[in-house]
Amino acid sequence: MRFDVVTIFPAMIEHALRVGVVGRAIDEGVLQVRVHDLRNFTSDRHHVVDDVPYGGGPGMVLKPEPLLKALEAIELESGRRPVVILTSPQGGRLDQEVARRLSRLSHLVVLCGRYEGVDERVRSRVDEEISIGDYVVSGGELPALVIVDAVARLVPGVVGDQQSVAEESFSRGLLDFPQYTRPAAIADSSGELVVPDVLLSGNHREIRRWRKRAALLRTLDRRPDLLETAVLDDEEQEILRGLLAERGDR
Ligand code: SAH
Repeated sequence: MRFDVVTIFPAMIEHALRVGVVGRAIDEGVLQVRVHDLRNFTSDRHHVVDDVPYGGGPGMVLKPEPLLKALEAIELESGRRPVVILTSPQGGRLDQEVARRLSRLSHLVVLCGRYEGVDERVRSRVDEEISIGDYVVSGGELPALVIVDAVARLVPGVVGDQQSVAEESFSRGLLDFPQYTRPAAIADSSGELVVPDVLLSGNHREIRRWRKRAALLRTLDRRPDLLETAVLDDEEQEILRGLLAERGDR
């Protein structure tokens, strides 16, 4: 899968994508990520990318032409019309479902806004506006990284163990179960911090059941809304009924 990111801070994107599973997938050619400096698509001597808003008011707005030129150049070079995403707090909220849908595309362009945002006319060339949550950050770079990472890890071959993607939070509509690693016990000022016995038992059936129960319990405690649409197997449905009955008793 190919991503093109258009930004006035290319280093921010490049550095962040160099590490971890995404960095490795880029090295291996499973993912292609091109980062474009918006200033390269200006035609004036000072490479100006922003200007004051019409109508007055505080701050600056990203000019439309450099963004439109960048899109044209990317399209021309790739020979196809990619899906164009604008990072925006006014967009549809990114979630695992949106990430999954985008991961099926072959080519995604992500535009990073800055300052007060981008000239509204850029939206005529945008397929989808995406928000990473109901808060405002200073630029589209962090949102673009979140989008690229969340989408990329769903592309086959990016995360080595597909099982881990299938089991993680939101994949089936449940939160993930708690994880532990060695040592089995740690001395702490308030006593000993231990790993649940069942995980040390080597009994895989018991472990699987404990994990299902723990994932359901977590989801019930933290995000009960997810249970309305979660896809549960028979064992999970039985465990959930048990958990709900226990709560009803209290
Ligand atoms: N004045 C704008 C916010 C501008 S913030 C408004 O109120 O809608 C500057 C840029 O940061 C935006 O253009 C966008 O690219 C990015 N941005 C800020 N918050 C974001 C969020 N929650 N999700 C996605 N992008 C965001």
